[in-house]
Amino acid sequence: MTRLILLGPPGAGKGTQAGLLSEKLGVPHISTGDLFRANIGEGTPLGLEAKSYIDAGDLVPDDVTVRMVESRLAEDDAAGGFLLDGFPRTVPQAEELARILDGLDQRLDAVIQFDVSEDVVVDRMLSRGRADDTEEVIRNRLAVYAKETAPLLDHYRDKLIVITAEGPVEEINERTMAAIGEAR
Ligand code: ADP
Repeated sequence: MTRLILLGPPGAGKGTQAGLLSEKLGVPHISTGDLFRANIGEGTPLGLEAKSYIDAGDLVPDDVTVRMVESRLAEDDAAGGFLLDGFPRTVPQAEELARILDGLDQRLDAVIQFDVSEDVVVDRMLSRGRADDTEEVIRNRLAVYAKETAPLLDHYRDKLIVITAEGPVEEINERTMAAIGEAR
């Protein structure tokens, strides 16, 4: 299994797990949040467009996000697989992803859901101190997740692997590797 989507609320630890999985599976970690932050850091037009949405905890519009992901997935290192972290985040984005993968003649292997309680999520986000991790913005991101992203769990029900994402980082990684292995 090398073509994977990582799903879960903000603060679920997707980025941390994606880093470990990326090394073990030998496929790139593609995080839309990281791509947006890199663009903001470099002051690109895409970064300028995305910044106000990210600062408010709102979703960046689909057309901007989809274009960015489409060009990233077309790069050579993603030909053998990828870990998508933070995309898709809406059902229309999932439909766009299906179109992109069709065009590349690729199939999604699985969608990994990192399941974690809301209390743990808020604690983790408040402790990492990112610019968009103030309490008000966190609350909005969680509301956006419940409304826009949670419906993807049903959308992808046939490919879903649920991982309990509480406890030590290494244990969560082991559970995930085992689940991917079993489903192979
Ligand atoms: P977290 O998982 O903690 O929410 P991310 O780094 O994944 O953090 O995302 C940070 C912000 O980037 C989001 O709040 C949103 O504004 C924007 N973003 C990331 N991915 C997407 C996406 N697929 N669609 C729209 N906006 C996105």
